[in-house]
Amino acid sequence: METFKDLDLASPIAKALLAMKFEKPTPIQAAGIPVALAGKDLIGVAQTGTGKTATFCIPILTRLLKNPGKTALILAPTRELAAQIEELWRGLTKYTPDHRAVVLIGGVAMQPQVRALRAHARVLIATPGRLVDHLQRGTVSLNSIEVLVLDEADRMLDMGFAPQLNQIMKYVPKQRQTLLFSATWSKEMDNLASKYLHHPEKVAVGNISRAAPKIAQFAIQTTQQAKNDLLLEELNARQGSVLVFARTQSRTDRVAKFLMSYGMLVNRIHGGRTQAQRTSALAAFKSGGVRVLIATDIAARGIDVADIAHVINFDLPQVAEDYIHRIGRTARAGTSGEALSFVAADERGQWRDIVQLLKKTGSSLPEMKGVTSSQLNPAEMSGGADASDRAAAKAGRPQRPSRGPRSERPNHRQDDRRDSRSEPRAEGPRTPRAPVASSGVKIVLGGGPRL
Ligand code: AMP
Repeated sequence: METFKDLDLASPIAKALLAMKFEKPTPIQAAGIPVALAGKDLIGVAQTGTGKTATFCIPILTRLLKNPGKTALILAPTRELAAQIEELWRGLTKYTPDHRAVVLIGGVAMQPQVRALRAHARVLIATPGRLVDHLQRGTVSLNSIEVLVLDEADRMLDMGFAPQLNQIMKYVPKQRQTLLFSATWSKEMDNLASKYLHHPEKVAVGNISRAAPKIAQFAIQTTQQAKNDLLLEELNARQGSVLVFARTQSRTDRVAKFLMSYGMLVNRIHGGRTQAQRTSALAAFKSGGVRVLIATDIAARGIDVADIAHVINFDLPQVAEDYIHRIGRTARAGTSGEALSFVAADERGQWRDIVQLLKKTGSSLPEMKGVTSSQLNPAEMSGGADASDRAAAKAGRPQRPSRGPRSERPNHRQDDRRDSRSEPRAEGPRTPRAPVASSGVKIVLGGGPRL
């Protein structure tokens, strides 16, 4: 299948694809859509950003157009992913707007969802927890479901949704088509597939869990204490949008506070924020109003923002596979991007796991940068107008903005004790940053010590 025309799609779908500027199918679409259109159960192993959403939405709409009384259910692990699926669905139904989708996600009021359900949606896009709520209250019926999608099924299991899936399956008709998508494949996924799918055909795009090849990956050895300053330095040195990953909700908050104390405009999303806060943070990031978004893994999963130029792993993920998911936020749908990871001494084990996974999956390996300036002398780790400013000045980059009032400033007592020790030492002088297409800046420090 070379183009979407080869699929002989119904004309409102073909027209909508043109309007969305989808001309050539992506590999998962080329492999998966014909299988799903033939009515077979499908397992799609594809990482995010590969076009997997349209791989199930196009066959669903084709089927619903032919069967006016039928509906489809798409289960997704997070609210953000559900919202993004709906966005694609809306584009795809531009010329068949009566094929509405209803999004059933937690963290928002039930009542508007109940009202929307009464208006006969053709597709339900739901997170498992909220769908179970509706089922228990009797506000939704799944009797007319003809196609079921389990999107990012690996993540749903990771997030502990197996009991909810079990419950939901009791309400879904046995006679149905089931499409399962997952970025990774494991024994658990095998079990899930054999439980819910019927003679599925499996299509995998590239190696399982392989990092998208167009992402330039870098890593810096540093310390926990030096991370804040390093982040500030790296953000100042970059142009374009940056998604920063922190390990926990409180760390996300702390990093945001630190950057804001230097006058930087940032937003944050994590599971502890309300849905309204998450939605507005994401909207501001998408529109370019806020350049830096700080997120935890779960909140960031499935974020589909075009043109994220950089991903920075402020903290390494606990699970190596999340590294691939995280850096997959950049370089989506074939564009290029850059990913940078901070590796503190207590994260070396995680880093080894990540490198091992990258090797195993045939992905390209990150380039390791040298020991950072602030790592050399622990007395200087808490930052201040120090090495980062001087390095920035040297490289002709913008320096950190002037600080806010003292009361808002982090407690840096070492400011006056800076000296030449804070300059990069182990690696010699810092190589000037070379321009790259996506970001405008790139640090290349030759072969630092391996972790
Ligand atoms: P997904 O993996 O489904 O999240 O898709 C990643 C991004 O690629 C989304 O922004 C889609 O709108 C876009 N996309 C999906 N399929 C195509 C296509 N065939 N041509 C161009 N863009 C696409």
